[in-house]
Amino acid sequence: MSQTITGKTRLLGVMGHPIAHSLSPVMHNAALQQMGLDYVYVPLPVKPEDLGTAIAGFAAIGLHGLNVTIPHKQAVVPYLASVTDLARAVGAVNTLWYADQGWHGTNTDVAGFLAPLQGMARSWDGAIALVLGNGGAARAVVAGCAQLGFGEIWVIGRNPDKLTAFHQSWAEFPGKLPLQVFSWEKLSHLLPPATLVVNTTPIGMAPHIDQSPLSPNELEGLSSATIAYDLIYTPSPTQFLHQAKARGAETIDGLEMLVQQGAVALELWLGQPVPVDTMRQSLRQRLMIKTE
Ligand code: NAP
Repeated sequence: MSQTITGKTRLLGVMGHPIAHSLSPVMHNAALQQMGLDYVYVPLPVKPEDLGTAIAGFAAIGLHGLNVTIPHKQAVVPYLASVTDLARAVGAVNTLWYADQGWHGTNTDVAGFLAPLQGMARSWDGAIALVLGNGGAARAVVAGCAQLGFGEIWVIGRNPDKLTAFHQSWAEFPGKLPLQVFSWEKLSHLLPPATLVVNTTPIGMAPHIDQSPLSPNELEGLSSATIAYDLIYTPSPTQFLHQAKARGAETIDGLEMLVQQGAVALELWLGQPVPVDTMRQSLRQRLMIKTE
């Protein structure tokens, strides 16, 4: 973040509704300050009915780049001049840049989700990924698991209509997508063979921090060879990760995904490497997570 905002300061931001809780300004401004760049990153509250006006307005004031969050990740697509193949495949954009008189969109959530998994010395070929929940974040998880080469991607949801629509929405996905969808009742059968279990539901988030997506019985099926990944970043660990760790499983929380999706976006806007560690530390500090 620029120390002094002047007429030359360039503007970046994140639009959503609500947006006051967003941690993106914390990590982006920490990185911009570290880089000594005359930019500022601001939260931009945009109601769904104002989306078109806001997008045109952001272009009019010369906003340099924009993150997009709930509820606009899919709704913004019709306002864009182009969308990357990845964002089209995922069906959602979270990062926009302005060029040639139009907004262009991509999805950096997939790269964010993949970053901690790519750092592991594992082969995913033919392995099974079990995804709990079928909302927006689950889309980035499915695309990421396909990219890693998982042999099976099993998605569990609670609403049969939404689950069917989720399944059908991948019909145009390029390449092989070994996707199947299931109801929650099947969880205890699906858990034991899974190499990776990803919680994409908000179960376990504040204020319900004692809740877990797995019942005590279902938990019995989680082996020490499983990797438990929770997209929730606060609390850390969630009850789910706490239980998984107690069973000897490797665990990953959502903080690194948050950091990495932001770093990829900032790098895209600035055209140069960004201080990822500064971004991570700024979030840890804000969330009061102890650095090990
Ligand atoms: P979303 O679009 O609302 O999807 C949530 C999913 O969870 C839906 O499938 C929903 O089912 C399901 N669900 C909610 N409560 C449930 C319950 N009690 N039992 C069973 N299923 C339940 O939200 P999202 O954008 O995907 O975000 C989901 C979570 O991921 C949030 O905790 C968010 O903070 C986290 N996230 C983290 C990152 C990161 O960078 N770390 C990025 C994105 C999201 P219905 O559709 O039937 O309601």
